[in-house]
Amino acid sequence: MKYTVITGASSGIGYEAALAFAARGKNIILAARRTDELDKLKAKVAEINPALDVVIRTVDLSIAANVHEFYESLQAYSIETWINNAGFGNFASVGEQHLPKIEQMLHLNIEALTILSSLYVRDYADVDGTQIINISSGGGYTIVADAVTYCATKFYVSAFTEGLAQELKGKNAAMQAKVLAPAATETEFAKHSFNVDEFEYEGRVPKFHTAEQMAGFLLELYDSESVVGIVDGLTYDFELREP
Ligand code: NDP
Repeated sequence: MKYTVITGASSGIGYEAALAFAARGKNIILAARRTDELDKLKAKVAEINPALDVVIRTVDLSIAANVHEFYESLQAYSIETWINNAGFGNFASVGEQHLPKIEQMLHLNIEALTILSSLYVRDYADVDGTQIINISSGGGYTIVADAVTYCATKFYVSAFTEGLAQELKGKNAAMQAKVLAPAATETEFAKHSFNVDEFEYEGRVPKFHTAEQMAGFLLELYDSESVVGIVDGLTYDFELREP
């Protein structure tokens, strides 16, 4: 039996991605801190397809020891797709950042994603049909003032994943690495990250996508041979491209 791992599945894009992969008949491993939300999602998946296996892992991925433990806890499963979606933003100008939140963001957006990607590639790079998809952001391709540190973490995600894709292709590995860059999306993210009413992108207030739409783009990227999927923050066009 094969599985798709989705981190940050208890809300937003990860939640909708889990439903979208379940609708494709994929068994899923869901990870986040809130067990109650993961349990509700598991019940919803069972409504879609009771034959699917759904595994839950409650984990705080901003703590490196937990990240290793989480990965080790999945040794019994055969994982065909790994989606590093869990992410956090704290938008403020550099001198005014809330440092404990910034540290949490660095641990989650960079450290956990790097450790999990490295372990998954180590174990599965030669397995046919495997994919690793990392969730970056439009901010991982264009720096937004007053969200500089968040954008820098997402530039890291984009660079790391595009580089990984090149490396895997260079080695003729069986695995594909891909990066999705969502634009502003109506999720809990805004509550943690910025004041929606004041948020501007290139001098304009963006309209928000739904998480369901973003999960649709994720599936489009999953189905394609492209490495990068970028949602335009103003036109909301979705573009698939090579790095
Ligand atoms: P949400 O806040 O709705 O979802 C974030 C998910 O990550 C939740 O399931 C949350 O679950 C989980 N998470 C947060 N912190 C941790 C942690 N320490 N350990 C484990 N899991 C954690 O936001 P989105 O769905 O919007 O975000 C998903 C991804 O999309 C993120 O990487 C974000 O950066 C990116 N993105 C979002 C955009 C937007 O406008 N919404 C735009 C561009 C990119 P729990 O709290 O239960 O742990």
